Amino acid sequence: MPELPEVEIVKQSLAKNVISQKILKVIVRNRNLRFKIPKNFENTIKNQKIISIRRFSKYLIIKLSKKLYCILHLGMSGTLHLVKKNKKNTITNSSFYHSPFLPNKHNHVELVFKNLRVIYNDPRRFGYFKILDNQIKLKNFINNYGIEPLNRNFNFYYVKKKLHDKRKNIKNYLLDQKFVSGIGNIYASEILFESKINPKKKSCDLSDQELRNIVKYSKIVLNKSIKKGGSSIRNFVNTSGDFGSFQKCFKVYEREGKKCPDRKCEGEIKRIIISNRSTFYCNCCQN
Ligand SMILES: [Zn+2]
Repeated sequence: MPELPEVEIVKQSLAKNVISQKILKVIVRNRNLRFKIPKNFENTIKNQKIISIRRFSKYLIIKLSKKLYCILHLGMSGTLHLVKKNKKNTITNSSFYHSPFLPNKHNHVELVFKNLRVIYNDPRRFGYFKILDNQIKLKNFINNYGIEPLNRNFNFYYVKKKLHDKRKNIKNYLLDQKFVSGIGNIYASEILFESKINPKKKSCDLSDQELRNIVKYSKIVLNKSIKKGGSSIRNFVNTSGDFGSFQKCFKVYEREGKKCPDRKCEGEIKRIIISNRSTFYCNCCQN
């Protein structure tokens, strides 16, 4: 599932290529995404210029001329591919968890620009496009979600206020999009490992220092991944499409049975299920 750092990298690749460009043609091959793409989608965005692209949580917000906003969520398996005209680019994927090549199937939506095509691929079709036709609707959309982890208002005072009386475990809270928006399952485990907090610990039992650690490491872990993700995209080219090195950067995620990466710790990485999601932690330094 694309997580915040991946969506940030997609945003950067996309912005580099399509800002100020006009959408010349829109091709929809399959309307049945998580929300059905409306019939007027093509006509609404055709001939519009891309003014800016920003990311909120795991959403891309593409501002078009005429004050239209196109929201794109990649769902479980969505990827964006950039295919340049008159250039044999085999590496098309703008994200870093997935294969770098353009797949043959599931290319549901295509935006055609002067020198480039942007192709939305999504085998499981949980992603979606949504058009908002004014700024108030965009504001309302964003206000439905909790604060972003990289926002400076995601700080000790905020988490203390929200969590001091909550009995639910901290892992669940990190995934609660009304509390903090954009931390997914992979990064929740990684953040708790760096913070040395057991994922099952009740939120109300966290010390001030532990709350400070959660804030600090949420930002550090996500920013590090954005940096690494960016470099792994560049590496696609050098390694002729051999990707996957990014996953090796995780310290606990999918490392069950391995020794704790902390040299001073003798513990082992364990996997447990919390609210149906795999959760990884060290049985020694996170207890
Ligand atoms: Zn450990």
